[in-house]
Amino acid sequence: MRCALLAAGCELAPAELVWDAAGRILELRRARRGSGPIADQCVLPGLVDAHTHLQLDQPLANEPAAPRDFVPWASAVMAARRDRSTAAHTAAARDAALARIAEGTTAIGEIDSTGCSPAALRATGIAGRCYQELVGYDLDRAGATRLVRQRRRPGALALAAGLSPHAPYSVSAALFRAAAAASGHLAVHCAETAEEQRFLRDGTGPFADLLRALGRMPRGAVPAGVGAVRWLARLGLLRASTQLVHCQELEPGDVEAIAASGAPVVVCPGTIEWFGRAAPPIADWLRRGVVVALGTDSRASNAAWTMRATLRAAARLWPELSPLRIFALATAAGGRALGRRLGTLQRRGRADLLALPATSDRAGDHLEAFVHGECAVAAVRVGGRRGVGGIPALSVRRNDPTLPS
Ligand SMILES: [Zn+2]
Repeated sequence: MRCALLAAGCELAPAELVWDAAGRILELRRARRGSGPIADQCVLPGLVDAHTHLQLDQPLANEPAAPRDFVPWASAVMAARRDRSTAAHTAAARDAALARIAEGTTAIGEIDSTGCSPAALRATGIAGRCYQELVGYDLDRAGATRLVRQRRRPGALALAAGLSPHAPYSVSAALFRAAAAASGHLAVHCAETAEEQRFLRDGTGPFADLLRALGRMPRGAVPAGVGAVRWLARLGLLRASTQLVHCQELEPGDVEAIAASGAPVVVCPGTIEWFGRAAPPIADWLRRGVVVALGTDSRASNAAWTMRATLRAAARLWPELSPLRIFALATAAGGRALGRRLGTLQRRGRADLLALPATSDRAGDHLEAFVHGECAVAAVRVGGRRGVGGIPALSVRRNDPTLPS
């Protein structure tokens, strides 16, 4: 190929990539002149969608107009999930993964609320981590231990295992501790709304009302008395292997604590826009050493539910970030957020890549058009495989209405 971006600031031109039958990269080298025809392509690492709920692939039936309130929305999502069969969840996860691959996303951080995602995704070849979701604000130690034991799933080579204690307003201290003891890799929705912070500080507000209405508020419950980040730190969850999702409402001192812990933060630009929220200051977070990755979240809170649309939204929300920086958030930082060697092209790493039609010999020249959705992906390889379930990636791409024309 004419050029390849292996990671931010590391290019090869012309480039030659060789991988084995297992999809492991054996060679990344400058192609020798005269060694054969050079494909007119620019190769980039595949995108990493660091936080998604593939089973939540539908918009809400009666989508409210913006600005949207979080707590009624969360209740509507719970109701929609209850009304769906396991077969429908399985099909949704598989189809959404295939759509991700077709647009050039080769790894995901999937939040699995039913337990069916590992089997649904195995045949797609998509890599990343599948976090089993845990919910239970009313669970004591014995109940928490039981739930974790029930919900744990083994990982596979492509899709490693993790747990997702959902959020500080839906998970008891005992359940957080049980999850942290059972798995090295966690994903937690953290500091998403002002209501969450209020509930944690003094136990009041719409989350308290919701828990009471659901019969999930334990008798004599004592509020955390601190915000979400400090609460997670106190429970021993603020660590490099805990992915913090959203962090929309951080308090003074939180950014320093997150940076010192190494905990990666995943922001979801589509969700920020859907709820009409202010964009968090991620350029400042990055300067202070926080690892920031990008996710698509669910279709219930993201009108254009693709990583390509997520890149475009990120460019809108954070115009101070260069296309190369935004691309790095959507690739290498995503790999770090999942605790995997993903999102870069490297020897012995997976051959997860996408190819664009080359317009120059410099891979960096292609990023602005790619991030702004101005060029279509020409090919995708997932673990070195050209197709998914026998379908060539290119034919999937043609049928994918989510891609820009
Ligand atoms: Zn989420």
